[in-house]
Amino acid sequence: MSHRRTPFVGGNWKMNTDLASAVELADDVVSSCKGFVEKCDIAVFPPFPYLQAVGKTLGNHGILLGAQDVYHEGNGAFTGEVSAEMLVDLGVSVVIAGHSERRHVLGEQDELINQKVRAALDAAMWVILCVGEKLDEREKGKAEEVSVRQLKMGLEGVPMEQMRQVTIAYEPVWAIGTGKTATAADAQAMHLVLRREMARLYDDPIARETRIQYGGSVKGANAAELIAQADVDGFLVGGASLKSDEFGTIVGAVVAAP
Ligand code: PEP
Repeated sequence: MSHRRTPFVGGNWKMNTDLASAVELADDVVSSCKGFVEKCDIAVFPPFPYLQAVGKTLGNHGILLGAQDVYHEGNGAFTGEVSAEMLVDLGVSVVIAGHSERRHVLGEQDELINQKVRAALDAAMWVILCVGEKLDEREKGKAEEVSVRQLKMGLEGVPMEQMRQVTIAYEPVWAIGTGKTATAADAQAMHLVLRREMARLYDDPIARETRIQYGGSVKGANAAELIAQADVDGFLVGGASLKSDEFGTIVGAVVAAP
């Protein structure tokens, strides 16, 4: 189970930037990731209002336009929500589902996250399904149980044929935006647990082919050590994705990994 999978790095801008700085950041990311797009899938996830402008800036440079969330209904009386079809209409090709901030700040449950995963897959988009335990869960020895449960529930009803559209992001909640990174060994251990669970849920080829990103205070300085782990296939980057140079350094480390 080694690095034959194409690596995948996403930059989650969260609720940051304004229109002008989002466009500028997208433009800078295109420059800082030049030469990497053939070797690594790269996506940026701007706030919803800036998707169209950022998409225009990304143009045909090979960087994917991503959305931070999606609603599972097609259209109708769902005030404030955005459907998969609307995102596709804007050129979005990948969405994040189950980010820890949506789980723990906005209160999203596994059932809703699963509906979002399936709606985005049915709209032919890629999905990054985020899983990961909170600090108290890790301290109680429940890290694996929590992450595996989120994986299973997030993928419920997803057929084998759609698994090639799925990436998993292991993001221990205690490492997100805190400056604390899981050790490379901790990340590898959990990625292997998740991969084995996918082999149980599907089969060995699916487990082998599905990419698992690590997320949690990834930066230029720790990317190389993390990506060197056999089951770490890329990163979901928050804070450091707001600096194009740092993001480029991370992608560069991924591309340079043996
Ligand atoms: C994230 O938002 O998915 C994330 C990992 O954030 P940060 O890199 O800032 O910890």
